[in-house]
Amino acid sequence: MTVRRAFLTLAVAVCIFALYFAVQPLGPGYEQLDRSSYSATAIGINAENQWSEFVDDKQGILFVHPGEIEPVLVKLRFASSGNAVLTFFIREGGQLGNIKFTLRHNGELIGSHEVIYDHSPTTVGLKIASGDIVEIEAEKNGITAQDWGQIRIEQRSAIFTLEEVLVPLLWAFLAFYLASKRHLTVVVNAYLIFLIYIVADKLTFGLLDFRNISAYSALAISLTFIFVWVYQELYWARRFRLAAALSFFLALILYVVPVTYIIYYLNFHESIDKSILFAIFQTNLTETIEYLHDFVSPLWLWGAMITALAIGFLLLSHEKRVPTVFERSLLLFLIVTFAVPTLISVDALRLPHFTFRTAAEYHRELSAFRAIQESRAAGIDNLTAAKDHNDEIHIVVIGESLNRRHMGLYGYFRETTPSLTRLRKSGELIVYENAFSSHTHTMQVLSQALTEANQFNHRSYFESSSLIDVLKAADVNTVWLTNQNLLGAWDNMVSVIANTADQLVGINRAIGTTVATDTWDAELLPPIADALHPKTKQSQVIFVHLMGSHSNYCSRFPEEYQDYTEPLPRGIAGSSIDHQPKLAQSLNCYDNSVLYNDYVVNRIISLLRESGTVGSVTYFSDHGDDVMAQLGHNSTKFTFDMAAIPLMFWLSDSYIERYPLKYKYLNQHSAKLFTNDLLFDTLLGVIDVRSDKRQEKFDLSSEAFHLEESKASTLHGKIPLFNDANYIWWQRFNRESLADIEQDERVIPHRVNSIGKLHDIWAAGYRSFEVDVIFNLNESSGFRIGHESATSGLPFEAYLDSINVSEVRKIWFDLKNLTAENYQEVLAALQSLDDRYALKDRLILESSTTGDWFKIFREEGWHTSYYTPTDRIVELLARNNISELNELAQQIAAQVEVQNVAAVSFDHRGYSFIKQYLESKLAKDVVYHSWVGPAISTSEFLKKLSQTPIYLDKRVRTVLIPFHSPFHL
Ligand SMILES: [Zn+2]
Repeated sequence: MTVRRAFLTLAVAVCIFALYFAVQPLGPGYEQLDRSSYSATAIGINAENQWSEFVDDKQGILFVHPGEIEPVLVKLRFASSGNAVLTFFIREGGQLGNIKFTLRHNGELIGSHEVIYDHSPTTVGLKIASGDIVEIEAEKNGITAQDWGQIRIEQRSAIFTLEEVLVPLLWAFLAFYLASKRHLTVVVNAYLIFLIYIVADKLTFGLLDFRNISAYSALAISLTFIFVWVYQELYWARRFRLAAALSFFLALILYVVPVTYIIYYLNFHESIDKSILFAIFQTNLTETIEYLHDFVSPLWLWGAMITALAIGFLLLSHEKRVPTVFERSLLLFLIVTFAVPTLISVDALRLPHFTFRTAAEYHRELSAFRAIQESRAAGIDNLTAAKDHNDEIHIVVIGESLNRRHMGLYGYFRETTPSLTRLRKSGELIVYENAFSSHTHTMQVLSQALTEANQFNHRSYFESSSLIDVLKAADVNTVWLTNQNLLGAWDNMVSVIANTADQLVGINRAIGTTVATDTWDAELLPPIADALHPKTKQSQVIFVHLMGSHSNYCSRFPEEYQDYTEPLPRGIAGSSIDHQPKLAQSLNCYDNSVLYNDYVVNRIISLLRESGTVGSVTYFSDHGDDVMAQLGHNSTKFTFDMAAIPLMFWLSDSYIERYPLKYKYLNQHSAKLFTNDLLFDTLLGVIDVRSDKRQEKFDLSSEAFHLEESKASTLHGKIPLFNDANYIWWQRFNRESLADIEQDERVIPHRVNSIGKLHDIWAAGYRSFEVDVIFNLNESSGFRIGHESATSGLPFEAYLDSINVSEVRKIWFDLKNLTAENYQEVLAALQSLDDRYALKDRLILESSTTGDWFKIFREEGWHTSYYTPTDRIVELLARNNISELNELAQQIAAQVEVQNVAAVSFDHRGYSFIKQYLESKLAKDVVYHSWVGPAISTSEFLKKLSQTPIYLDKRVRTVLIPFHSPFHL
């Protein structure tokens, strides 16, 4: 060995140790943690919270069972410093257990881990200081059955144990040994693969234990000798390049899986779970590439590319100097010796094990489903279903990734659905206001929407009858037309259902792994028109599966529909458009795709109308997309925008004549909460198929429809729709509750400073709001929307013109810059606003001016309100400076009298000042306006509001409340 090579080998050995300890697969070093160093308590254990249980066995294991109503919260208090290792698992024997543990350290979120009964435990290491509090929330995560959660609390000694140095030591020896045989690069490559696996494993499942690391290590060492063998064999054959290419290909295959997990984690700060793997399996390469392009930061993709190149380079550079040193039998012996222990404890390789097992599960489900479909098709399984008429045609249009909040029909500020809006206005469309999807991924949604399985019966789709089965049993002819890929890289459940239809037409030529999707949804129209002339004397159901608004949004519409091209100003779309450079284009493309979808869906309806057949069109989207947060529809990043779907029915006149009651009930239920897993029952109702498979309480066209709203959920039962994060529902629901007690003109949204937000409050039913306005902003003329910290420059007239002003009941007009210099101009400008919109009786003119000329506005008929100096009041209250508070009250009272204002307005923090110091000095007819009350986006809103003193005070005529909108400015 030359000095140079010795030096290089030493450097490699040092790197092996350094990288290994940087990754810390076993976690940091540990100190002894005895029983007295922590105490454990639990919250949420009571009889009402069924199944909730907590037991501390005093041996370092805590038993926790989440409750049916709320999670159980375990609190650990540490009395001494050190490093704790927490392991989460399900007690042996449980067959269904499935808990979501969320860990907080001194209030800071560490992460959430889904723990499933037959999966490897999740381990987390924490550095603890004396007095630290660790909270562990155990949530039922679906159903509470055998949720026998276990938390083990452990410690390890701080001194290096043999376990911790053994693995890198082994690799260092290997490096020395193979370097002497001129195979150093092979070791480096195998070691890199080993490291990538343990990093991915740690990110996904938490800390590894020694068993995990030895398994990965043994496998990688066995792999090293496989590489050596490949080089040697091909060296004899003088095929160096082939050796390099083969090794590179092998390395690449091994490296794709862990790198996917790592990139996912780095990009989304969540680990890949079963749902995501299922979504990956059912998508094809096209979708994957579009998804990476849309949602994954290029930084991570470049990182992955560079790592791949580095490995490739290593393997390639090896090519020129391969000697022959190992006997084949020795290599075989080494490979087997290292591979066998791994194969015996294959579950220790958590990442590949999880991936393969989930893949196997996916295939098992699919084949079970296919078997059931085939047995039904063969008439083996008898299903009873019947339909009276044989002259009807029903069309079921399945949309894709459409968030209803981007549809003009549902109040979006852009009229993205002109045709559907027209149909609705003419009374032809029944539009559901509160429909949500049952999941955020196509397959998960359709596996319930199109089968008997739903979020209530907990059946698995692969043991359930599909809609097509039941229709066939009722002697209805079925046609499936699709623009989605029928065959992904993997088969999927939707194509299994599609294949059972009597007729299947796929127009998407991008089968399997092609990259471009070049077929527009409208190309489905001719086959739909054909299907409207059935060849059999049977009623007919046509399923139409659109590509809709699936990412990549920009490739979902033809050029003629590229209406939105200019980036939206913040005055329209709010401030998030400033922070996210990619958002402007993404939003335009998405809205264009919605516009195009409007055309397609309307044409489908027209085709059925023109055919004159008795029939219906049902349109719904599988799930939404969170476009404004640029999250797509990734379930681990769930938001309710991913579940807010459109649902609508078009019925022919002859249908309404034939089924007047169905028409009546479909209309009657249109404001009800609904989840699309129940479409199986609803569609059978609309199509009028009698079957014992249909549950009437889930049929919107039946009088018996009844969904217990508090039990409605999404993400397959994991997230209740009544969750506080469902601002879409709560803001609407709470507004209706306010209207019921006639308070919706008094309790109104705060800071409605963009057209987007104005349309949001409008769609939720509000007709009163507060807006900030600046006069003659930066040399412009007239009123412009804006706040000191966020001006939009939008003319107030443009803002008003975006809605129907005649419906407005109250505008709180917070004028930011009324001065002695501009007040006459302002007065004239207000007058012309009144001439145009008749606002005088509906407007609160608020100003912080102390000028006595403010009285002129009241004289001219405006309701004026003096904006009291919040900061000063809050400061004096904090210091409890009674004499100055009295002095300030005296001063304000005198000024209010001179200004002759109709009201004073104040921040809720200044309320005690108003009551204690000011009120007694004010004339009785001066009223109040105040801000801010509790947020209207949560379930607790009404309860909190009813405990808010400013709300209870009748003299307060307006209470501003925060309103959540993605278009906030
Ligand atoms: Zn989808």
